[in-house]
Amino acid sequence: MAAQQQRDSLQKTLGIIGGMSWESTESYYRLINEGIKAELGNLHSADLLIHSVDFAPINKLQAQGDWDEMGAIMASSAKRLQAAGAQGLLIATNTMHKVVDDVQAATNLPIIHIADVTAAAIKQKGLTKIALLGTQFTMTQDFYKQRLIDAGLQVLIPDKDAQQEIHRVINEELCQGQFLDSSRQYYSQVIQDLANEGAEGVILGCTEIGLLIKQEDSSIPVFDTTAIHAAAAVEFLLDNAKSSPR
Ligand code: GLU
Repeated sequence: MAAQQQRDSLQKTLGIIGGMSWESTESYYRLINEGIKAELGNLHSADLLIHSVDFAPINKLQAQGDWDEMGAIMASSAKRLQAAGAQGLLIATNTMHKVVDDVQAATNLPIIHIADVTAAAIKQKGLTKIALLGTQFTMTQDFYKQRLIDAGLQVLIPDKDAQQEIHRVINEELCQGQFLDSSRQYYSQVIQDLANEGAEGVILGCTEIGLLIKQEDSSIPVFDTTAIHAAAAVEFLLDNAKSSPR
C-alpha cells in the first residue's frame, strides 16, 4: 500500500546534499515544504531525501584548499542520494558549487544550480548591476561570479577588508547559529556602500545570510539564494504534477 502510494505520488523525488551548514539546510527544508503546501494544499509535504554531511571537515578542507577531496565527498553523497531514489539533486550551499562538475560526473541526475536560478530571478526583475555577498570563494572565484556574468549580469563585490569580515562572520557566527546585531549592521553598511557604487540589488550568496539580513536591512532589493533555490526545488518536485492531470 505504501509503495503504491509512492508510485502514485504527484511529485518527483529531490535529493539534497545539505549540512553546510545545517542552519541553512533547516531553512531549505521549511521553505520547500511550505512551497509544496502552498501548491498542493492540505497535508502535502515535499518528497525529499536529505544527506546532511558533517560540515567541520568540509570547512577545514576549504581552508586548506583541498577541492579534490571535497569533490570526492560531494560525489559520494550524490551517489548515495541517487541510490536512495533521488531523481534530481540540489547542493544546499553556494560555495560547494565549486565542485558541481564532480557531482555531475558522479551521477546522471539533473542538478538545480544555485547561481543559474538566482541569475534568472534577478533578470526577471529587470536588474543587471548586482552586488554579491558570500564566502570569499563565492565572491572572488569564477565558478560562481563568472556564471552570473555569463548570464548577462554585472557583478560588484566588497573591497578586500570587507570580503574578509563578511567571510569571517559566515564561518564564525552564521554557520554556528549566531546572529549578532553588530554583524547585521556591518552587512547593511557593506550593502549600502555597494548600492552607492551603483548596485541595483544584492545577492545573499551564502545560504546562511538570509538568516541575518532581511529586506528591511537593505536599501536595495535582496536576492536570498536559499529562498530562490528552494522555490526552484518546488518547481522541480512539481514537474510531474504540472505535466500530468491531477
Ligand atoms: N552555506 C555557505 C554558502 O552558501 C557556505 C558556508 C561555507 O561553505 O563556508 O556558501
